[in-house]
Amino acid sequence: MKIAGSCLCGQISFQVTGPVHMINHCHCSMCRKVHGAAFGSFLHVSADGFQWLGGAHLVSTYQVPGNDDRCFCSNCGSNVPMIEEDDNVIIPAGSLDTDPGIKPIMHIYVGSKAPWYEITDSIPQFEKFSPAGWLEKALAKEVDS
Ligand SMILES: [Zn+2]
Ligand SMILES: [Zn+2]
Repeated sequence: MKIAGSCLCGQISFQVTGPVHMINHCHCSMCRKVHGAAFGSFLHVSADGFQWLGGAHLVSTYQVPGNDDRCFCSNCGSNVPMIEEDDNVIIPAGSLDTDPGIKPIMHIYVGSKAPWYEITDSIPQFEKFSPAGWLEKALAKEVDS
């Protein structure tokens, strides 16, 4: 399955041809700021299944002091995929143009949640990140079912 995505101006585009790991919602203050929204939603994939199709030269990086890089389109300001040092790619789910075929698995950093937003779905919520081993188990279960 091929998953396509692009920024608002369309100059940056990409595709995912490899396996997808998960989608999560992150309520930390950085994701809220950078998305301008109640939370950020991210599709996680492996770097070897990810390709830029266009506009890779337009990808700008903001290094959050003491934290992760945040990537954006230097033309339109959209959040775009971030390639991590551990060969994972974190894709802002709102940039996707096609259905990734999976649903979000958890809410993280709920301890930093916006006070004006109430989570109304039933997927697990974690104060910060999921406890050690939880994600591996949850993903293994998804593969089984
Ligand atoms: Zn753009
Ligand atoms: Zn976050």
